Amino acid sequence: MKKKVNYNEQLSPNFSKRNDKIKYIIIHYTGTKSLLEALNIFKDENSQVSCHWLISKKGKLYKIVDEKNVAWHAGISYWKGDSMLNNNSIGIELDNVGHGLNYKIFSNKQMSTLEELLKLLINKYKIKKKNILGHSDIAPDRKLDPGELFNWGRLAKKNLAYYPLVKKNTSNKIFFKLGDKNTEIKKIKLKLIKIGYKCSQDNNYDIYLKLVVEAFQRRFLPEKINGIIDGKVYSRILDVFKNT
Ligand SMILES: [Zn+2]
Repeated sequence: MKKKVNYNEQLSPNFSKRNDKIKYIIIHYTGTKSLLEALNIFKDENSQVSCHWLISKKGKLYKIVDEKNVAWHAGISYWKGDSMLNNNSIGIELDNVGHGLNYKIFSNKQMSTLEELLKLLINKYKIKKKNILGHSDIAPDRKLDPGELFNWGRLAKKNLAYYPLVKKNTSNKIFFKLGDKNTEIKKIKLKLIKIGYKCSQDNNYDIYLKLVVEAFQRRFLPEKINGIIDGKVYSRILDVFKNT
C-alpha cells in the first residue's frame, strides 16, 4: 500500500511546463512575516514566484504547484554542472521569517512533515541524498535560506540528506580569508567545485569564494559563519569532498 500525506491545495498561477527529469529537491524558507503572507505572494501572478510545497510552523502541508510543472523558486542557480535548477527540481518552502527579521528554529512538527514529504519524493523520483540542497548552496551570492538553524543532521540521521559526521580534533594550520592569493586556494576551490558549488579556478580568495564558504558553513558547519577557511573549515571541506 502506498503511503500518502494529507495536504491542502492553494494553487499558484506561477509555473511553466516541465521538460526535464526531476533530479533535485531544494529547501527554502519563506522569509515572510506569516504563512498567509507567503500564500498571498504565491497566489499573486505579479510576484512571479512559487514552489511545489509549503509547510507551516504547525506542520501543515500546502500544495502550491503540481510536481509535473516547473515552480519558480530557485532563480539563477548552479550545482555540479547544472544551472537554472527550477527546471529539474522540486521546491519546498518552510514558513520562517528568515534572517532579515527574527530568524527562528524550525519547529519539530514542521521538520516531521518535511521528513514525511522527503521520504515520498525520494522514492517517487529516485533522488540522490546529495541532490537534496539548500537554496544558499545553489545561489550563494544571493540567498541565505534555509540557513544555519536548519537541521541537516536530523535529516541525515533518517537517511534523508547528505551530511557526513563532523571530525573532531582538526589540527590544520590553514588560514585563508578574503583578499588572499595562494596556490592552495585554487586547490580548495577545485574541491568545492567537485562538491557542487560554483567557483572560479584561480588562486584568488575573491568575494564570491567568501560567499561560497559562508554557504558551506551554513550547511556543514553551522556554529560559525565568517567566510574564512581555517583548519576546521578545511577539514570539513575534505570530509564532504571525500564522499563525492
Ligand atoms: Zn529560497
